[in-house]
Amino acid sequence: MVHFSPLAFTLKPRHSWVQLAGHTGSFTAGDGGRLLKRYCECEQRCLEKLMKDVLRPYVPGYYGVLHKDEQDFNIMDDLLTDFDMPSIMDCKMGSRTCLEEELIKAKECQRLRRDMYEKMISVDPAAPTEEERAQQGVLKPRYMRWRETLSSTATLGFRIEGIKKGDGSCNTGFKKTKHREQVVKAFEDFVDGDIQILKSYLKRLEELRSVLEKSDFFRTHEVVGSSLLFVHDASGKASVWMIDFGKTVPLPPPMTLDHRTPWVEGNREDGYLWGMDNLIDIFGSMLPR
Ligand code: ATP
Ligand code: MG
Ligand code: MG
Repeated sequence: MVHFSPLAFTLKPRHSWVQLAGHTGSFTAGDGGRLLKRYCECEQRCLEKLMKDVLRPYVPGYYGVLHKDEQDFNIMDDLLTDFDMPSIMDCKMGSRTCLEEELIKAKECQRLRRDMYEKMISVDPAAPTEEERAQQGVLKPRYMRWRETLSSTATLGFRIEGIKKGDGSCNTGFKKTKHREQVVKAFEDFVDGDIQILKSYLKRLEELRSVLEKSDFFRTHEVVGSSLLFVHDASGKASVWMIDFGKTVPLPPPMTLDHRTPWVEGNREDGYLWGMDNLIDIFGSMLPR
């Protein structure tokens, strides 16, 4: 279903800035092509480190904290500035979207959740187990993991959060976009069948993957809930950046991740590069042979 997002609002007269995900009100316009995002200490720490990492060209430039109207903001580059009526897509990376810490916390609470059970059956009446059905309740970590199996997060290691096209149409209804063919369809619609744009995206993704494989920052962080932001316009310009580091946390040294090994409790693997491999494979398969 295509609809106009209530989240779309204008920041600058030159182009309408769009927020594809997250809470409304988390962002406001800064000066000179910059964006203010509601302060988060975890994100600040990551952006500071990223400014000194090989990943620097693949994240928005970071300029510190601004205190304004009794609130703190992280100041960063608005990645849409150099585009004219851009088409944008947010893909949330990784094979899980909650931190290990969140799952552990949820596990400590053994309370059966009737609300979550009801949400589960409203989406898929066949989802609860016999036991859950008898109890009319589910445990929170089980519910959190189940939710991830609805989209492509669990099967492809990424999911589409939203797409806004240059013509103004906006779609955030991808919560149940799970299968490869559905993802391909959404990508095809996003690039409007433009082969040059597809090629530019593919090249940028391959570059980013090889830099991720060398990055000290990436090796030493659990990266959860972070997105790739795809942006292109009618001039043929197209690029991809990493955004959203609110749930990217440092690992206790000397622990490192390869971001491809499947997650089991305790190994903290996030499936980020596995998702990237799938994304690159899908973009590649969309090009004519
Ligand atoms: P959530 O954690 O729910 O995903 P959030 O509040 O942490 O959301 P982000 O994911 O960082 O917010 O951003 C939400 C949206 O805002 C993105 O999908 C994108 O459309 C836009 N956005 C974020 N950062 C930038 C940026 N630097 N330049 C341009 N657009 C951005
Ligand atoms: Mg986000
Ligand atoms: Mg976030």
